[in-house]
Order: sequence, then structure tokens, then C-alpha cells
Amino acid sequence: MAEPFVVESPDVAYSKDFIEAQYTYSTAHVCREGGVTKVRPCSTRFTFRTARHVPRLGLMLVGWGGNNGTTVTAAVLANRLGLSWMTKTGRKKANYYGSLLQASTVCLGAGPTGDVYVPFRDLLPMVHPNDIVFDGWDISSLNLAEAMRRAEVLDWALQEQLWPHMEQMKPRPSIYIPEFIAANQEERADNVLRGSKAEQVEQIRRDIRDFRASSGVDKVIVLWTANTERFCDVVPGLNDTADNLLRAIERGLEVSPSTLFAVASILEGCAYINGSPQNTFVPGAVELAAQRRVFICGDDFKSGQTKLKSVLVDFLVGAGLKTRSIVSYNHLGNNDGKNLSAPQQFRSKEISKSNVVDDTVQANPVLYGPQDKPDHCVVIKYVPYVGDSKRALDEYTSEIMMGGTNTIVIHNTCEDSLLASPIILDLAILTELCQRITFCTDSDPEFQSFHSVLSIVAFLCKAPLVPEGTPVVNALFRQRSCIENILRACLGLPPQNHMLLEHKMQ
Ligand code: NAD
Repeated sequence: MAEPFVVESPDVAYSKDFIEAQYTYSTAHVCREGGVTKVRPCSTRFTFRTARHVPRLGLMLVGWGGNNGTTVTAAVLANRLGLSWMTKTGRKKANYYGSLLQASTVCLGAGPTGDVYVPFRDLLPMVHPNDIVFDGWDISSLNLAEAMRRAEVLDWALQEQLWPHMEQMKPRPSIYIPEFIAANQEERADNVLRGSKAEQVEQIRRDIRDFRASSGVDKVIVLWTANTERFCDVVPGLNDTADNLLRAIERGLEVSPSTLFAVASILEGCAYINGSPQNTFVPGAVELAAQRRVFICGDDFKSGQTKLKSVLVDFLVGAGLKTRSIVSYNHLGNNDGKNLSAPQQFRSKEISKSNVVDDTVQANPVLYGPQDKPDHCVVIKYVPYVGDSKRALDEYTSEIMMGGTNTIVIHNTCEDSLLASPIILDLAILTELCQRITFCTDSDPEFQSFHSVLSIVAFLCKAPLVPEGTPVVNALFRQRSCIENILRACLGLPPQNHMLLEHKMQ
């Protein structure tokens, strides 16, 4: 496949199958010796190898019949078919706005007439969302066309055009364990698997194999966009190791539906992405993924309020203002909101939303002592009338110079599923790309993949899952730079440093 650009460098080689790049990774180590803090620049030579063949990707959604599931499927169809539709404000055309990969750009370098930007997706060979084949499960039996109507997200004139394409799509029966989601979801659960937990996991594995064989896709990724579950307890002997987790499934002990899906997916060698806040990835699931060298990533799509928070607090604290209080109110009227109106499911969301400023605060000991952090309160209310059009009201109060106070209040209104859908696509496409990247260093010359806990996708997640003992980064632009600079490294390009020194000389 022809690349949109080539890197001309002795460090970069293009073969039929691979792009191989030599890359020097420069960092600094800090230590304290004899009462002095010493900073030592250091560098490691990496070789990155990216397979150029882009596979045909199948994406299986758990919760396919929900607002996100139907909206992302509809959006991809509408883009693939090049649809447009009339609204009261004129004709709208299908697009991928909100997708980091499809709708944002990166700077390649300076050309004769200034900086040259390319779409993010052009950096390395990637799956195009139009080519993704969808399938999935839902505890509700509605076909995707009817489920799209139930979601009330897309304009009717678009739904009418999509109807014949989506009518044939039917979610597969799913694993339903009522105590994990709100009781108010029971009325839609008419498409559920029977049998023991082990039998249900086997059925999910068969579904994955059946989809792969019948659709002709090369690769399958499974993504949870079903209802938020309550947290489950991590119990020694139950779910703390891979063996214990597999044994717990055999014995029918407590394992959440999302963890059962993760296990089935890992055992089939398929990456598993968690778009909701619950702790699907109990230690046993993390260990199983590591043993099988399968990527897992999550948690919880970072779509609206949290995304803004991870920018605003970074901006405030980064500018030297001491943010003391963050208060967030949400109200929404979709089925997600209905599920979150139950206390245990709300608690999962509250936990996932609450740690988003920790890294920014901890990085500034000038403003914050070790135990010091802003008051942070999150409220979510279910108001059916507003449907998918979620309202988020935030108040940020910061201390400014000499006892002054700055209060910023923001009101954000947005269709929730139209923010989540491009994130689902980015998560799947980035995860697939990472499966084609291997690397080695001079001291460890055997090629390896990224860690099975794939933290490079943190930009897209509210509560990023990272390998144990490694730092969690929530600040949005640090997360974006991480993706951009790793992809640049795969091309032997230096990290984007924004120094513009060439324009700062006499
Ligand atoms: P939704 O309620 O419309 O869709 C969820 C679907 O999952 C429903 O169709 C439901 O029937 C199905 N379901 C529930 N349990 C299931 C199971 N065990 N197996 C298969 N299907 C099951 O919700 P949504 O708005 O599409 O959101 C989906 C998830 O994404 C929620 O957990 C939400 O918190 C999370 N999320 C959404 C956003 C956003 O902006 N939309 C952002 C972050 C996280």
C-alpha cells in the first residue's frame, strides 16, 4: 500500500512488509546523592518495526443495541455510503468529527510555505473506519434499526436512509446477571444466554469464531459499550490470579458479565476494550491477558465533562493557579442515565470521574502539599426529557494572587453518543495498529510488543488503565503527545517539541 508520505533518512527503511525505524529515546534520570539532586540525561536506542499490511477489522460491541452501539454503527454506514440528509438548518453530510485519528492533524515539519500538516491517520498505515465490520451482543433483542430509533440520537431523515441497512443487523444474545446493572434495565433483557457461566463464556467464544469465519475479517476486537456495572470485590482466591478467575468461572462463583466477556475475548486472542467505568479488569483478568499476550485497555470513554476537566485543571494548575474546588453536575435522559440513577452504578462512574486531576495536582508541589487536593464533587441526575443531549455544569474555583479567587463556570450541552462514537473508532483503530508494532532496544534485541495493558490509548479513557506501578497520565495534551510521539518514533521522527528554534534566531 502506498504511504501518503515517506521519511527519507538513513534511520528509516521501508520494505514490502514493514517500516523499520531506528530511534533514540531521550529522557532524564533524577536521583539524590550526598544531599544534592542530580539530573542525568540518558538515551536508549530503539528499533521500531511496523507491519504495513492493514487487516480487515471486525469490531464486536457488547451493548450493540445501545445508544453508542447503534450510533457508531450508523455513523460508519453513513460515511461508507456517503450519505447526506436535510435538517431544518440545511443539508448535513456524514463525517468523523471528534475522531482524533480521522479529524485532527499532526505537523510533519516545515515546508517552503510553512508547517505541513497531515491527518493523524496518515502517520502510519491504519484501518479506515469505513472498512470496519460490526457485530455484537445485547441483552435487548431489537434489531439495529429499531434500536437506532429507540436511541433518538440521529436525525430522522438519516435514520430513514439507514433503516434498510441496519434492519438486518441483530445483536447476539448476551450474558445477563441482573445484580450487576440497575434493576430498571430488566424490562429490556429479552435476549439473554442461558446455562452456567462456563457455558456462556464458551458461547461468547463461539460467537467470536463464528463472526470471524462468516464475515471474512482478519482480526476481531471486542469492546464493551454496554451498561455500567457495579464494581465487584477483588477477593483472594476468586479473581486475584488468572487461574483463580478461570476456576471461579468453572465453579459458577461471582464474576461480572464484563469480566466474562474479557476472559472469552482474551482466550480467543482478541484485544478487549472497556468503555465503561466498572473494574472489569480484576487482577486475574490482567494476568490472563499478560499470559496470552493480548491487549486490554480502558476504562470508560473520555468524552465530555472529564475531557474538559483534564484540560482545564491542567491549564489552571499549569499556569500556577491553585484550583481548590471542582464541582460537576450532570443530567441526562438516555438509558445510560437511567442505569446510572441506581446508587451502585453511579458509584462506578463517580470513582472513574474522580481521579482525573490527581496527576496534575501531584505534579505541582509548589501549590499542593502531599495530602492536599482540590475538593471534587460529581453529581449525576436522570432527567428523561433531555434524552441523549447531556448537560454538564461545572464550577472551578481557584486561588489566585494575594488572596484573590477565580471562579469559572461552564455549561456544556451535547449529544453524548455523538461524542462517544468517534472515541470507539479511535480506540479500536489504535489498538489494532499497536498489534502491528514491535520494538527492541540495543540491550534487549529481541522484538517485543507493547505491554498487554495498552496505556497508549489513555487520551480516550476517563480512568486510564496502566501496567501496575507505572504512572497514570490524565492531562489531555500529554496524552495526545504520547500517541503522536510514539507514532512519530515508529517513523524515526523526533518528538514534537514546539521549540521553533529556527524562528527564534537573529
Ligand atoms: P445504553 O444504555 O444506551 O446502551 C447500553 C446497552 O447495553 C443497552 O442496549 C443494554 O441493553 C446493553 N446491555 C446491558 N448489559 C448488557 C450485557 N451484559 N450484555 C450485552 N448488552 C448489555 O448506554 P450508552 O449511552 O450507549 O453508553 C454505553 C456505556 O458507555 C455506558 O456504560 C456509559 O456509561 C459508557 N460511556 C458513555 C459515554 C458517552 O459519552 N456516551 C462516555 C463514557 C462512558
